[in-house]
Amino acid sequence: MPFHLPNILDLSQAHSVLPHPVPNPYWVGYSSKVGSLLGIEQDSQLPINPEYLQLLAGNKTQITNLSFEPFATAYSGHQFGQWAGQLGDGRAIYLGDMNGYEIQLKGAGPTAYSRRGDGRAVLRSSIREFLASEAMSALGIPSSRALSVVGSDLPVIRENAETAAICARVAPSFLRIGHLEHYGHNEMEEELQQTLDFLIEHHYKECQRSPTPYLELLKSVSTRIAHTTAQWQSVGFCHGVLNTDNISLLGLTLDYGPFGFLDTFDKMHICNHSDHVGRYAYHRQSEIMHWNLYCMANAMLQPLQQELAKEMHLSKEDAIQKIKETLDVYSELYAKKWQSLFRQKIGLSKEMPEDIQLLEQLMQSLHHHKLDFTLFFRNISEGKDCPSVMSEWHELYQERLILEKISLDERLESMQAINPKYILRNHLAQKAIESAQKKDFSEVAKLLKVLETPYLTQTVSEEYAHPPSPEMAHIAISCSS
Ligand code: AMP
Ligand code: MG
Repeated sequence: MPFHLPNILDLSQAHSVLPHPVPNPYWVGYSSKVGSLLGIEQDSQLPINPEYLQLLAGNKTQITNLSFEPFATAYSGHQFGQWAGQLGDGRAIYLGDMNGYEIQLKGAGPTAYSRRGDGRAVLRSSIREFLASEAMSALGIPSSRALSVVGSDLPVIRENAETAAICARVAPSFLRIGHLEHYGHNEMEEELQQTLDFLIEHHYKECQRSPTPYLELLKSVSTRIAHTTAQWQSVGFCHGVLNTDNISLLGLTLDYGPFGFLDTFDKMHICNHSDHVGRYAYHRQSEIMHWNLYCMANAMLQPLQQELAKEMHLSKEDAIQKIKETLDVYSELYAKKWQSLFRQKIGLSKEMPEDIQLLEQLMQSLHHHKLDFTLFFRNISEGKDCPSVMSEWHELYQERLILEKISLDERLESMQAINPKYILRNHLAQKAIESAQKKDFSEVAKLLKVLETPYLTQTVSEEYAHPPSPEMAHIAISCSS
């Protein structure tokens, strides 16, 4: 009997496709936390049930008690600000749904949307996606999750010959702005409406109460995206490729490619080496996400206008004005969340108008003095001295702290709960990758464990909390994946 798929939209654009098997698969990484979300009863230690190895390698679609009917979907999108036309799940195959989560096998071979690609992913990028998904989630940032990475010695050609891996990623829905753009652009009215209704029914129930549910959906997606983006900034996360086809309609962080966490604070940091103009630089992420929301609104313009004509008797032009007003709320939502997070990062429990200036000065000083972003905040959370180059700012900060009512201990505790000690720095990921390429997967497991509790000091080497050595600070992260 096929596995029941209640959570997945029955997209008429979905194509059935079978994952392509890989020879002699082996476990590279497994998250028992995600396993339990899915209801997979397993010991946290590898090897887990060998049937699952075959399933998550894409070698089988049926194992005891589970049977899937895999498929891939079409989406389109704007890449680097330009309409790119049809894209789609070129190397991510939906397995199906378990416990309310969709599972995709990324790198399981070509689909109808692979264009000239091989449908594969290399070990290096799969480990990065696996660790980043779990690290972000543990930081409390909405993200797709990752159940496993399975490797194979199957060669995959990128700049060099590498080997294949399959990352099983998990999310309540993998719908992207690009799905709506695909239907909007191709005048697929039925699919567009179906998708919007599906989103509201399964993921934005609160919109059902509104007389204009589609406008409410746009507002709710904007809110989630504004909050997620502010959270990225608060941990120094750069996504790297904020094209509309990589933007989750649930406000999840999705499609980890050449992402990076800031070491030294550089507000203009560009983590994607192909991003020559810095479109997706750290300090531009919020405005880019706002731009992406305009693409979402544009894609659903027709149903929005119909709804606003029916419920509010608005002409097409007035409807556009109303939609713009809705989108404009984004900047305010983002700023509020950003301020709230950064206030918490420096332990301010009371909200005072002057705080904005204090925070702006802080960011300028961090940038100017090229301090390590994570370490600066963590150190002040642990009651350590502010670096001497920051003395001017520190004085203003001390004056502001006098107005706080909470005790020092309470303040430090609250600061430690928002300023991570451990983030997925590139050089840490690199070390795990290099061991894995030599078939030692212990560092992947160890790093995963450290990143699963990023706010608590753990009994591991302090190196996990340290910035990279100068020679590791600028390791090139290849965009090929
Ligand atoms: P990305 O830049 O990874 O978000 O990918 C953009 C588009 O290219 C998506 O439609 C991907 O599915 C597709 N794609 C990327 N790499 C491959 C590959 N190796 N094989 C097939 N399709 C790919
Ligand atoms: Mg993508």
